[in-house]
Amino acid sequence: MAFSRVQGVVFNIQRYSIHDGPGIRTLVFVKGCPLRCGWCCNPESQRREPELGYMRSRCIGCRRCIDSCGRGALVFEGDGLRILRERCDACGRCAVACAAGALEVFGRTVTVEEVMDEVRRDTPFYGSGGGLTVSGGEPFSQPDFTAALLAAAKEEGLTTAVETSGCAPWEAISPALGSLGLVLYDLKHADPDRHREGTGASNELILENLGKLAAGGRARIRLRVPLIPRFNADPNSLAAMARVARDMGMTEVDLLPYHLLGTSKYKSLDREYPWAGVERLTDREIEEMRRPFESAGLGTRIGG
Ligand code: SF4
Ligand code: SF4
Repeated sequence: MAFSRVQGVVFNIQRYSIHDGPGIRTLVFVKGCPLRCGWCCNPESQRREPELGYMRSRCIGCRRCIDSCGRGALVFEGDGLRILRERCDACGRCAVACAAGALEVFGRTVTVEEVMDEVRRDTPFYGSGGGLTVSGGEPFSQPDFTAALLAAAKEEGLTTAVETSGCAPWEAISPALGSLGLVLYDLKHADPDRHREGTGASNELILENLGKLAAGGRARIRLRVPLIPRFNADPNSLAAMARVARDMGMTEVDLLPYHLLGTSKYKSLDREYPWAGVERLTDREIEEMRRPFESAGLGTRIGG
């Protein structure tokens, strides 16, 4: 089929996932996102282009990588490597040369068919409910690739799901709807200004798209609320999101507690972690955060 040759940039394909949709699933992480959530646990997902990461703790200082780079993009300074990012084109030669596994290119260009070759290896484990989930980054930041991948999976009889921030033009989302069984949709804040402060963008487009999805009724929607200290993990913010969820016709929400996984990746990409110093919520605090949703008549699930 024509869509098997459509190309996209992905940064991970994760097999045997039991989250992110029904049954056992293969998760394809698309690179690129229009948001910059301060608590993001996948900073390597944010930019569309492949990029080189350096894990200093693994580096043994052998300097083989420097010799392998034809662009002069690596220098050794003090006790570690510095990547001259304006020179680096993420070709990955240095990562191949590094026996210590201290260098890694995040992101590769693949065709739908290449992804499906990997997905098919999991087919024996899916059972009746499992299948493919396209995640990110933001899947709809690469709309042609995401739509083609979902169509290919559906054609092979797999269940399909997408994890989205909803921050994409409707024209980028709608072509995928015919191939989509489940939409895992993030709701991060009900207030546009607070949303902009935490993520870099207003929530207006996100709420508009959610309304269209809910009204259209073509794919099942599961709303997911990340519980983020210093952003939305307070009774007023949660109650406002509960009202949005109820008004959109939801009966249940998934609550996703803030965690610190992935913070070391910021350092490997020479970036600061914006949420540094913010502690995780306690189990008791998380339990209390069910209340505003349950008061609005919504079922809650922790995780999802
Ligand atoms: S090749 Fe790997 S271990 Fe050696 S200096 Fe480079 S990054 Fe460090
Ligand atoms: S990814 Fe390529 S260009 Fe970048 S530092 Fe490594 S070898 Fe050089």
